[in-house]
Amino acid sequence: MALSEFSIIDRFFHRGIREGGVVKLGVGDDCALLNIPAGYELAVTTDTMVENVHFLADADPASLGYKILAVNLSDLAAMGAKPVAVTMALTLPSGDERWLSEFARGFFELADRYSIDLIGGDTTSGGLSLTVQAMGLLPAGGALKRSTARQGDLIYLTGRLGDAGLGLKVVLGRYSGSVAGETLERFHRPSPRIEAGLIIRGYASACIDISDGLASDLGHILEMSRVGASVVWENLPFSRSVQCYVGATSDWQMPLCSGEDYELCFTVNPGKREAMERVLTEQGIAFSRIGVIEGTSGLYLERSGRKERLKLKGFEHFG
Ligand code: ADP
Ligand code: MG
Repeated sequence: MALSEFSIIDRFFHRGIREGGVVKLGVGDDCALLNIPAGYELAVTTDTMVENVHFLADADPASLGYKILAVNLSDLAAMGAKPVAVTMALTLPSGDERWLSEFARGFFELADRYSIDLIGGDTTSGGLSLTVQAMGLLPAGGALKRSTARQGDLIYLTGRLGDAGLGLKVVLGRYSGSVAGETLERFHRPSPRIEAGLIIRGYASACIDISDGLASDLGHILEMSRVGASVVWENLPFSRSVQCYVGATSDWQMPLCSGEDYELCFTVNPGKREAMERVLTEQGIAFSRIGVIEGTSGLYLERSGRKERLKLKGFEHFG
């Protein structure tokens, strides 16, 4: 059945707010109200996904609901913020009840896992476009930024690299080799590394999430921190599926320049290495040490003992 604007909001998005949190007023009025506790800052970010740019028309709505929230939470994780609330702007070609119910199911599966309130939004008709704005709390002055990496810092990554890029190739029918279901899942339902972000906030000097590929995103840290880096190929964390892909195609650039892994790439002063690695290990968070920040500009890759400058580009709209 096709639903109207207000029945869509009422049916799927007007839920109560959690008591005792920072949200004082949620969906239903002209604005939502937040009460930021003393000594905290609000981190705010927004991301959009558009049909035929970020996903195909036949994409599973539950995965879309999950992913549009996940990519926003990933930005909060990259700053070390704890997510508390989100708003959502939906543009829909129709009020398709089944599609909306699946979309909401995927969205709230992830929102409920992190006790996040949906506190408002906008619902309009048009070509399918999904926008979420996410808000998180940070102790004042405690945010992890891109601009504060220092020469000698060690470079780390959570999780694995290239699974989402390989998943996209499979979805587009551009790779027919065998790919594990787990690897494909990384494209459809990336995990925002919120727990990792909260831990490394106490240790890291800089951080970014990998949305456009390691080369491009680590490149942002290097530019904004006015430093360079070298990364060791043999230390990069690849799944079995990505290893097979690289072996079969010789396309070693794919895991370095494909986006959407939503892992955290962060830098740490060597003096904090041991303590941080211990806590991450205790908390069961997968991480790899992949390289080091250098004083002169440029991103270098050491591969089979040879070091060469990387000039790979990540995804760019209008690029
Ligand atoms: P206004 O006309 O004042 O902008 P709307 O009529 O668009 O308000 O929305 C009514 C209420 O529903 C508002 O509180 C708004 O934040 C909320 N809302 C609208 N769309 C969504 C959505 N997709 N998800 C969550 N809340 C929504
Ligand atoms: Mg409106």
